[in-house]
Parts: sequence; structure tokens; C-alpha cells
Amino acid sequence: DEASNENLGRLLRLVYGYDSFRDGQLEAIKMVLDKKSTMLVLPTGAGKSLCYQIPAMILPGLTLVVCPLVALMIDQLRHLPPVIHGGFLSSSQRPEEVAETIRLIQVGAIKVLFVSPERFLNADFLSIFTATSFISLVVVDEAHCVSEWSHNFRPSYMRLRASLLRARLNVECILAMTATATTTTLRDVMSALEIPLSNLIQKAQLRDNLQLSVSLSEVQSIIIYCKFQFETDLISRYLCDNSISVKSYHSGIPAKDRSRIQELFCSNKIRVVVATVAFGMGLDKRDVGAVIHYSLPESLEEYVQEIGRAGRDGRLSYCHLFLDDITYFRLRSLMYRSETKQGQYVFDIPTVANSIGATTIDVSNQLLNLKMRGEITYELKDPAYCYTIVEVPSDFCALSAHLTKWLSE
Ligand code: ADP
Ligand code: MG
Repeated sequence: DEASNENLGRLLRLVYGYDSFRDGQLEAIKMVLDKKSTMLVLPTGAGKSLCYQIPAMILPGLTLVVCPLVALMIDQLRHLPPVIHGGFLSSSQRPEEVAETIRLIQVGAIKVLFVSPERFLNADFLSIFTATSFISLVVVDEAHCVSEWSHNFRPSYMRLRASLLRARLNVECILAMTATATTTTLRDVMSALEIPLSNLIQKAQLRDNLQLSVSLSEVQSIIIYCKFQFETDLISRYLCDNSISVKSYHSGIPAKDRSRIQELFCSNKIRVVVATVAFGMGLDKRDVGAVIHYSLPESLEEYVQEIGRAGRDGRLSYCHLFLDDITYFRLRSLMYRSETKQGQYVFDIPTVANSIGATTIDVSNQLLNLKMRGEITYELKDPAYCYTIVEVPSDFCALSAHLTKWLSE
């Protein structure tokens, strides 16, 4: 084992000029060389490509890499080290180019072949591979596309079932790679590709020594939701003291004043509204840049509806939920349930995350990061990219300081 680690390290230095493997790489390479189908989850830029390139140099047959976009194929092809001969097949190629690539495959002159998932619909493609031009490894890049749960699900990826790969192409080993870590998605992909749960390699998306913060310098309009009226007054007074144009809004304020506040907010005369659930019905403002929850909403629908007021103009918008553990556990113990189109949900963070296709990352129990991308279902008309960071503020002062810092940036 040590000897093989040493050899792989030597190959890394020789071919790439890198000193050491990054977290997860060596583990993935060894799994593949052992013909164990593997799910590799590493953040973007972590170096997933190397995990198939090194095996491709060692394995006897061809490495077939399934890529969702022609641009990605060409990019990956360009970045292959010179010692690895690569090629690609795409519908954009002329028949002569396709014929030449097939010829090269059949004489064994191509080690890594990039294809789109649509290729698998084509019987001619499946018949290229024979006993002399056989496939050692199938790599499914951006493997989250296999799952219907994923934000960029591709129906043609559905064809990529382990059964097809095994029966038609005699594939012994599949390496699925993605940066998406949503549990539902991963579970789906692994089942489609018949990757055992034990063959999941997933490295930290975030190191636990990172303090996350989001700069809201671009954000003009912000809604802060609170549970209680007194909280809205407290926070708006605090922000006001810090020279931020702000009003509080709740059902205790006379109707006339309430519609005035809404008008001022819509015409950008005030930047921040600190509100209870009473605020937002019929609000027609497309450029709300952030929705901050000072406390946990009472239901999933309420939360989804409230964050849905951010980013209707399609711009990157921020949703931030502050969560103190007392509220969290109180609400959790109530086991608040709500009927939704997708079934019954218990309002806890992983459930919320899963239901909206978000990624949850638990960082040393202090910080829970939900990264949500597109496709928020429910009533959202114009889903924007949002970030939700859930953390446990130690006290009100810390929270306010945090808010002020962002708002004044
Ligand atoms: P991913 O597919 O995970 O987003 P890539 O495979 O494109 O990432 O790699 C990102 C960059 O990291 C590339 O420039 C690659 O050469 C570099 N890289 C990969 N592995 C290592 C390593 N062990 N040491 C240093 N750089 C590496
Ligand atoms: Mg990649």
C-alpha cells in the first residue's frame, strides 16, 4: 500500500509537477484502481479531474468521461496532461471528425474520451466499444445532473443507469463526481449508478476555521423579519441609532402609517423595514436585496414566502436566518408540521434544506450553512440565487453588531 502511494505520488510529481495530493484525491484514485465504483464529492476547484486522469494513465482500457456541456468537454480535453491522449464526440462535429475519432478509439490511440449524456441514446455509439477497444472506467462528471432533485437535472442523464453501463458497455467501475452535497441528490445519484453508500468520498466543503460573512454592499433594500412586535422596535431603534434609514412594521401600527412605510420602502426612501409576518402581502418590489430572519418563522411556507420576496429581479440576493438554540429547540419540540405539495415536513433545517434543494454543511455545530440554488418551488415566481446562513448568535449585541457591520459596508 505504501509502495503504491509512493508510486502514485511519483506520478503526480512527474506528470503534473505537484508535491502532494489534496484531500480526497489519493483515496478516490485508489478506489478506482481497485475497480470500486465511487461517489466523489469535492468543492469546485478542489481537483476532481486528477482523480480520473491518473487512473486513466494506469488502467488498460479507455476512460469514458460523461460531461453535460460541449464547452466543458473541450475545456477538460485542453487541460489533459500531454501524456494522456484524449478525444471527444459531440453532435457539433462533422461526420469526418466523428469517423476519425472512432478510428482512433478502435486502434487504442485515445485514452480519455469525453462524451455528452445524449450519446448513450445512440446505438452506433454503444457499438464502438469492443473487446479490443474496451472501457475500463466511466466517469460521470457533474453527476448531480443525474438526480431529479438537482437544480440542473438533465433528462438525458437519466439514461445513465448502472444497468445500462454494465449490460451494454461491460463497465466495471463508475466514478461519479460533483460539488453538490445535498443528501437527496447524492442518494439519488448513487442509487442510479449503483454506488454503495460506503463508497462515498466527501471532503469538507468548508474548513471549520472559517468565519463566514456576506457582504451586502450592493444591497439597497432589506427586510428583517422578527417574531414579536417589540423585537421589530428594538432592532429598528438600534439600526436607527447607527444611521441606517429604517422603519418598523407590525399590525400594532395604524393602517395609514403602515401603507406609508410600505410606500417609502418601495420608493427607496427607507432602506430597511424591520417587520413581523404582517409585512409583505401585496408588496411589489423587485429589487429587495436581502431578507433577514431574526427568528425562525413558524412554518416552512412562511419562510419560503418571506425569502421569496428577495431577488425578484433575478439578481443575486441574500437570505439570512439567525437562529438561537432556545427558539430552535422550542420550535422543534413543537414539531411544527405543515402540509405542502411535496408532502409533510417537520420544520427543521435539514428538512428545509432538502426540500428546496439546498446544501447543508454543518460546521462544528456552531454554524450551519445552507446554500440554495434556483428552483425554489412553492409560490416563488422568480427564484433568485440566495444564500442562507444560519448561525447561533450568542446574544443580541452580537447579532446587532453583525447586522450593523453588513448594513454599513
Ligand atoms: P474540480 O473539477 O474539482 O472543480 P479541477 O480538477 O478542475 O477541479 O482542478 C482545479 C485546479 O486544481 C486545477 O488547476 C488542477 O491542476 C489543480 N490541482 C488539482 N490537484 C492538485 C494538487 N494535488 N496540487 C495542486 N494543484 C492541484
Ligand atoms: Mg470539474
